[in-house]
Amino acid sequence: TFVDQELSAAELERTFIAIKPDGVQRGLISDIIARFEKKGYKLVAIKLVHPTKDFAEKHYDDLKGRPFFNGLTDFLSSGPVVAMVPPPPPSQSMSNHTADPQVWEGQGVIKYGRKFIGATAPLASEPGTIRGDFAISVGRNIIHGSDGPETAKDEIALWFKPEEILSYKKETDKWLYE
Ligand code: UDP
Ligand code: MG
Repeated sequence: TFVDQELSAAELERTFIAIKPDGVQRGLISDIIARFEKKGYKLVAIKLVHPTKDFAEKHYDDLKGRPFFNGLTDFLSSGPVVAMVPPPPPSQSMSNHTADPQVWEGQGVIKYGRKFIGATAPLASEPGTIRGDFAISVGRNIIHGSDGPETAKDEIALWFKPEEILSYKKETDKWLYE
């Protein structure tokens, strides 16, 4: 069916989301997961992990050399983090396309996930975004989301083994997409 084809194409657009130690400590796990879940995104991997400093440095490798790098990686490794991978639903506008995976590039959850999260500085985030609603300081902005297809791929591979990422069907898909 077209739904099968869309779901396999949609897997190309997985993003990596992490609830940072401050979000976990503040009891925001359920609020954050609820937003992605209610939008219709499907969770395919989740775990609670306490990253080491070394691991945190790998995760934020692109920010090495920035003045906040040491504090940031200390912070990310300061307590449990909820790591998760929700891929997007198939895009409605693409629902008549079938098998060309290229068609899906740039669509969906990576960009929308970033919109959901809001600006890096929570005081610059719109109300209604996760950081806008729940955070104040840039160094305590509670959530991480991949910023593009390449970082999504790298971050998913860093945080999850392939066998930890599940493929499954949701019956609600037919109520989400025409
Ligand atoms: N950060 C910080 N000070 C800054 C910029 C960033 O403490 O001046 C932290 C902040 O927690 C941010 C993280 O470093 O979420 C990663 O920075 P990035 O620019 O990738 O922001 P994000 O992608 O998380 O919005
Ligand atoms: Mg970033």
